[in-house]
Amino acid sequence: MKKYILALDQGTTSSRAILFNKSGEIIAQKQKEFPQIFKQNGYVEHNPNDIWSSLLTVAREVLLCKGLDAGDISSIGITNQRETTIIWDKETGEPVYNAIVWQCRRTSDYCKELVKNGYSDMIKEKTGLIIDPYFSATKIKWILDNVQGAREKAKTGRLLFGTVDSYIIWKLTNGRVHATDYSNASRTMLFNINTLEWDDDILKLLCIPKNMLPRVLESSDDYGYTTLIGKGKIKICGVAGDQQASLFGQACFNEGDFKCTYGTGAFLLMNTGEKPIPSQNGLLTTIAWSVDGKVTYALEGSVFVAGAAIQWLRDGLGIIDSAAQSEPLALSVSNTNGVYFVPAFVGLGAPYWNADARGVLCGLSRGTTVEHIVRSALEAIAYQVNAVIKVMEADAEMKIKTLKVDGGASENNFLMQFQSDITNCNVLRPMCIETTALGCAYLAGLKSGYWKNMNDIKDNQKIDYEFIPDISESKREILLTNWKKAVERTTL
Ligand code: ADP
Repeated sequence: MKKYILALDQGTTSSRAILFNKSGEIIAQKQKEFPQIFKQNGYVEHNPNDIWSSLLTVAREVLLCKGLDAGDISSIGITNQRETTIIWDKETGEPVYNAIVWQCRRTSDYCKELVKNGYSDMIKEKTGLIIDPYFSATKIKWILDNVQGAREKAKTGRLLFGTVDSYIIWKLTNGRVHATDYSNASRTMLFNINTLEWDDDILKLLCIPKNMLPRVLESSDDYGYTTLIGKGKIKICGVAGDQQASLFGQACFNEGDFKCTYGTGAFLLMNTGEKPIPSQNGLLTTIAWSVDGKVTYALEGSVFVAGAAIQWLRDGLGIIDSAAQSEPLALSVSNTNGVYFVPAFVGLGAPYWNADARGVLCGLSRGTTVEHIVRSALEAIAYQVNAVIKVMEADAEMKIKTLKVDGGASENNFLMQFQSDITNCNVLRPMCIETTALGCAYLAGLKSGYWKNMNDIKDNQKIDYEFIPDISESKREILLTNWKKAVERTTL
């Protein structure tokens, strides 16, 4: 029996390798940051060689640190920063340009043009997405249009496109496998989530040759093997984009299951079962995963500024020393003393959709203290998450019972209790909050026979704490009404 699953988590700022055992516990982990490249305002790039070398280094190190070899690993799972776009020459293996990162806004004008020309409905129906520079499609077009000789090479079939998962698979397999999974494909804005194929109409509209695109496999599937980590072969058996992997890692396997990752921003995904549900509220419809021939869909919403509001208290205002200190400070007062903070630093997303909104701190009095402001910042995270939950419930016509949480700020007990109070649902925090890596490990282990089935995985779920709502309906109503008033003040 092979001992472990190796999860490779290629994130936006670092690459990580984590070994999991059969109980889903972390045995060892290694992490390496790599450079962010900001060439000009709104441009964000990574050097694909940095992505690859940092990942290969940590993968090798994590085996070495436990004295393990390829033979000890049942399979590899890969999870990745989504939408980030790489195009490389399949003969030389060299990227023709840096990776254009999901955050990069360079194709804003072209996206606006697509919207103006009336393509929004078509794109939404086919891909579940809203036309935006965030997704890979317009980034591919930008490289083909702007890198000398790229379009000609692409036409002759010499160039390959991949999201970061595809690129890593191609490198790990020494160029033998060019593939991606359904969850990553569904973030390119080129993949038809109804027919489960690359969409010819969109490819034609954006002048992208189909022969550049990877084969789309299940999230738990046979992606070939690598000989580059330890001595011998290790199979690659699981692939999913980071947010979908975390939904899987939280064992949100049933329709209506729901998770929120509280990091810099907050990412909410709801499993909506076997049918894509179009959103009436500007949420995204996406593929969660495909396992055993069955595709599962999700609704996705995000809050732009979540943990970043706490970073601002620390680095911008300098009123706290660490993010963790926000918890005792918030708990040292019984309420915010009428203070509401809406951290709309970069506008407001779902369900407000106001790009011109800016942050407000209101309800200040002579008695306002640092503690009140800190508490209002934590409450603001919960109010924003709650607003997304409410529109997801409306779109999916389902009421959530339990919110599963992960991410750095989910360690804050005050925040989790307030979330439970304001949303009126139980909040479940698992022991292992590395759910993204765990999710891709599960997907890999299901295929390589390390875990028998999804029930086997469910048994692994260990709860750290369950927060239960503890305020009256009338108090909740007052708080939510005041929050709404504060949101109205975000536009001058
Ligand atoms: P990311 O993956 O987006 O970098 P992480 O999951 O590492 O984010 O979480 C880091 C974010 O969470 C930071 O914005 C930080 O301010 C916030 N954070 C971390 N710990 C706490 C805490 N105990 N209370 C509140 N916020 C926290």
